[in-house]
Amino acid sequence: MKEALLISDMLNDFVREGAPLEVPAARAILPALQRRLAAARARGIPVIYICDAHRPDDPEFSRMGWPPHGVKGSKGAEVVAELAPLETDPVVEKTTYSGFHHTGLEAILQALGVERLVLTGVVTNICILYIAYDAVIRGYQVTVPVDCVAPLDPADGEYALRQMEQVLGVTVERSPTHQAAAALISSSRSVSNRRLTPTL
Ligand code: ZN
Repeated sequence: MKEALLISDMLNDFVREGAPLEVPAARAILPALQRRLAAARARGIPVIYICDAHRPDDPEFSRMGWPPHGVKGSKGAEVVAELAPLETDPVVEKTTYSGFHHTGLEAILQALGVERLVLTGVVTNICILYIAYDAVIRGYQVTVPVDCVAPLDPADGEYALRQMEQVLGVTVERSPTHQAAAALISSSRSVSNRRLTPTL
Protein backbone atom coordinates (compact mmCIF):
# COMPACT_ATOMS: atom_id res chain seq x y z
CA MET A 1 0.00 0.00 0.00
CA LYS A 2 1.55 3.28 -1.09
CA GLU A 3 2.18 5.72 1.73
CA ALA A 4 2.79 9.47 1.99
CA LEU A 5 4.27 11.50 4.82
CA LEU A 6 2.20 14.59 5.63
CA ILE A 7 3.80 17.38 7.65
CA SER A 8 1.24 19.81 9.01
CA ASP A 9 1.91 23.41 10.04
CA MET A 10 5.55 23.09 11.09
CA LEU A 11 5.80 26.79 10.29
CA ASN A 12 7.83 29.54 11.93
CA ASP A 13 4.62 31.00 13.41
CA PHE A 14 3.93 27.76 15.33
CA VAL A 15 7.39 26.46 16.12
CA ARG A 16 9.73 29.36 16.93
CA GLU A 17 10.11 30.66 20.48
CA GLY A 18 7.88 33.70 20.92
CA ALA A 19 5.95 32.97 17.70
CA PRO A 20 2.36 34.30 17.57
CA LEU A 21 0.86 30.80 17.87
CA GLU A 22 3.80 29.16 19.59
CA VAL A 23 3.40 25.45 20.29
CA PRO A 24 6.42 24.90 22.56
CA ALA A 25 6.17 21.11 22.22
CA ALA A 26 6.63 21.48 18.45
CA ARG A 27 10.34 22.11 19.01
CA ALA A 28 10.70 18.86 20.96
CA ILE A 29 9.41 16.78 18.03
CA LEU A 30 11.86 18.29 15.52
CA PRO A 31 14.58 15.60 15.86
CA ALA A 32 12.11 12.69 15.47
CA LEU A 33 10.39 14.44 12.59
CA GLN A 34 13.72 15.12 10.87
CA ARG A 35 14.57 11.41 11.18
CA ARG A 36 11.20 10.41 9.74
CA LEU A 37 11.55 12.91 6.91
CA ALA A 38 15.02 11.61 6.04
CA ALA A 39 13.77 8.02 6.13
CA ALA A 40 10.84 8.88 3.85
CA ARG A 41 13.13 10.57 1.36
CA ALA A 42 15.55 7.62 1.45
CA ARG A 43 12.69 5.20 0.72
CA GLY A 44 11.14 7.36 -2.00
CA ILE A 45 7.97 8.00 0.04
CA PRO A 46 6.21 11.19 -1.09
CA VAL A 47 6.38 14.05 1.41
CA ILE A 48 3.50 16.53 1.38
CA TYR A 49 3.46 19.73 3.40
CA ILE A 50 0.12 21.03 4.68
CA CYS A 51 0.47 24.67 5.62
CA ASP A 52 -1.71 27.45 6.95
CA ALA A 53 -1.83 30.29 4.40
CA HIS A 54 -4.30 32.79 5.83
CA ARG A 55 -5.40 36.16 4.58
CA PRO A 56 -4.50 38.96 7.05
CA ASP A 57 -8.21 39.26 7.92
CA ASP A 58 -8.98 35.54 7.78
CA PRO A 59 -12.22 34.73 9.65
CA GLU A 60 -10.33 32.01 11.57
CA PHE A 61 -8.70 34.78 13.63
CA SER A 62 -11.93 36.53 14.63
CA ARG A 63 -14.22 33.49 14.83
CA MET A 64 -11.89 31.09 16.62
CA GLY A 65 -10.00 33.74 18.58
CA TRP A 66 -6.50 32.80 17.37
CA PRO A 67 -3.90 35.54 17.09
CA PRO A 68 -3.03 36.24 13.45
CA HIS A 69 -0.60 33.55 12.23
CA GLY A 70 0.50 31.83 9.05
CA VAL A 71 -0.36 34.79 6.85
CA LYS A 72 0.20 33.81 3.22
CA GLY A 73 3.53 35.05 1.89
CA SER A 74 4.94 36.00 5.32
CA LYS A 75 8.11 34.61 6.89
CA GLY A 76 5.94 33.17 9.66
CA ALA A 77 4.03 31.06 7.15
CA GLU A 78 7.22 29.34 5.93
CA VAL A 79 8.09 25.80 6.96
CA VAL A 80 10.90 25.83 9.55
CA ALA A 81 14.38 25.49 8.05
CA GLU A 82 14.96 22.12 9.79
CA LEU A 83 12.18 20.54 7.71
CA ALA A 84 12.37 22.68 4.58
CA PRO A 85 10.53 21.22 1.58
CA LEU A 86 12.40 20.27 -1.56
CA GLU A 87 11.31 22.07 -4.71
CA THR A 88 9.60 18.88 -5.85
CA ASP A 89 7.53 18.41 -2.65
CA PRO A 90 3.89 19.47 -2.89
CA VAL A 91 3.05 22.27 -0.46
CA VAL A 92 -0.71 22.38 0.13
CA GLU A 93 -1.98 25.70 1.45
CA LYS A 94 -5.02 25.61 3.71
CA THR A 95 -7.13 28.19 5.54
CA THR A 96 -8.99 25.82 7.88
CA TYR A 97 -7.96 23.07 10.29
CA SER A 98 -8.34 20.37 7.64
CA GLY A 99 -5.84 19.94 4.83
CA PHE A 100 -8.64 18.59 2.62
CA HIS A 101 -11.07 21.53 2.75
CA HIS A 102 -10.88 23.59 -0.47
CA THR A 103 -7.35 22.39 -1.28
CA GLY A 104 -5.72 20.23 -3.92
CA LEU A 105 -4.62 17.58 -1.40
CA GLU A 106 -7.00 14.86 -2.53
CA ALA A 107 -6.05 15.30 -6.20
CA ILE A 108 -2.36 15.09 -5.27
CA LEU A 109 -2.91 11.89 -3.28
CA GLN A 110 -4.93 10.35 -6.11
CA ALA A 111 -2.30 11.27 -8.69
CA LEU A 112 0.38 9.62 -6.52
CA GLY A 113 -1.76 6.55 -5.89
CA VAL A 114 -1.39 7.00 -2.14
CA GLU A 115 -3.66 5.01 0.20
CA ARG A 116 -1.96 5.40 3.58
CA LEU A 117 -1.14 8.69 5.27
CA VAL A 118 1.33 9.25 8.07
CA LEU A 119 0.25 12.46 9.81
CA THR A 120 2.84 14.55 11.60
CA GLY A 121 3.22 18.11 12.86
CA VAL A 122 0.93 20.37 14.89
CA VAL A 123 -1.50 20.66 16.60
CA THR A 124 -2.43 17.12 17.71
CA ASN A 125 -5.96 17.99 18.83
CA ILE A 126 -6.65 20.57 16.11
CA CYS A 127 -5.29 20.21 12.57
CA ILE A 128 -3.98 16.66 13.03
CA LEU A 129 -7.34 15.50 14.42
CA TYR A 130 -9.40 17.16 11.67
CA ILE A 131 -7.07 16.08 8.87
CA ALA A 132 -7.30 12.54 10.29
CA TYR A 133 -11.09 12.69 10.25
CA ASP A 134 -11.23 14.02 6.68
CA ALA A 135 -8.72 11.39 5.55
CA VAL A 136 -10.54 8.51 7.22
CA ILE A 137 -13.95 9.41 5.78
CA ARG A 138 -12.32 9.49 2.33
CA GLY A 139 -11.09 5.94 2.83
CA TYR A 140 -7.42 6.55 3.60
CA GLN A 141 -5.60 4.50 6.20
CA VAL A 142 -4.05 6.85 8.72
CA THR A 143 -1.09 6.47 11.07
CA VAL A 144 -0.07 9.03 13.69
CA PRO A 145 3.39 8.56 15.23
CA VAL A 146 3.15 10.17 18.67
CA ASP A 147 6.77 11.33 18.67
CA CYS A 148 6.08 13.42 15.54
CA VAL A 149 2.98 15.35 16.65
CA ALA A 150 2.64 18.05 19.31
CA PRO A 151 -0.32 19.45 21.25
CA LEU A 152 -0.69 22.85 22.90
CA ASP A 153 -1.83 21.08 26.07
CA PRO A 154 -0.83 17.49 26.94
CA ALA A 155 -4.31 16.47 28.13
CA ASP A 156 -5.92 17.80 24.94
CA GLY A 157 -3.32 15.88 22.95
CA GLU A 158 -4.14 12.67 24.79
CA TYR A 159 -7.85 13.18 24.20
CA ALA A 160 -7.22 13.62 20.47
CA LEU A 161 -5.02 10.53 20.23
CA ARG A 162 -7.68 8.43 21.98
CA GLN A 163 -10.37 9.91 19.74
CA MET A 164 -8.38 9.12 16.61
CA GLU A 165 -7.53 5.62 17.79
CA GLN A 166 -10.88 4.58 19.21
CA VAL A 167 -13.34 6.53 17.04
CA LEU A 168 -11.56 6.96 13.71
CA GLY A 169 -9.57 3.72 13.60
CA VAL A 170 -6.28 5.57 13.23
CA THR A 171 -3.10 3.63 14.04
CA VAL A 172 -1.46 5.61 16.85
CA GLU A 173 2.22 4.64 17.16
CA ARG A 174 3.26 5.26 20.76
CA SER A 175 6.81 5.22 22.08
CA PRO A 176 7.48 3.71 25.55
CA THR A 177 8.27 7.18 26.97
CA HIS A 178 5.01 8.52 25.67
CA GLN A 179 3.03 5.63 27.13
CA ALA A 180 4.43 6.44 30.57
CA ALA A 181 3.56 10.15 30.21
CA ALA A 182 0.03 9.32 29.01
CA ALA A 183 -0.53 7.05 32.00
CA LEU A 184 0.49 9.89 34.32
CA ILE A 185 -1.95 12.29 32.64
CA SER A 186 -4.87 9.89 32.84
CA SER A 187 -4.15 8.95 36.49
CA SER A 188 -3.97 12.62 37.54
CA ARG A 189 -7.23 13.24 35.69
CA SER A 190 -9.04 10.38 37.42
CA VAL A 191 -7.85 11.75 40.79
CA SER A 192 -9.29 15.17 40.00
CA ASN A 193 -12.50 13.57 38.71
CA ARG A 194 -12.90 11.77 42.03
CA ARG A 195 -12.49 15.05 43.84
CA LEU A 196 -15.35 16.47 41.80
CA THR A 197 -17.67 13.58 42.56
CA PRO A 198 -20.18 14.69 45.20
CA THR A 199 -20.43 12.53 48.31
CA LEU A 200 -23.92 11.20 48.58
ZN1 ZN B 1 -4.65 28.80 11.18
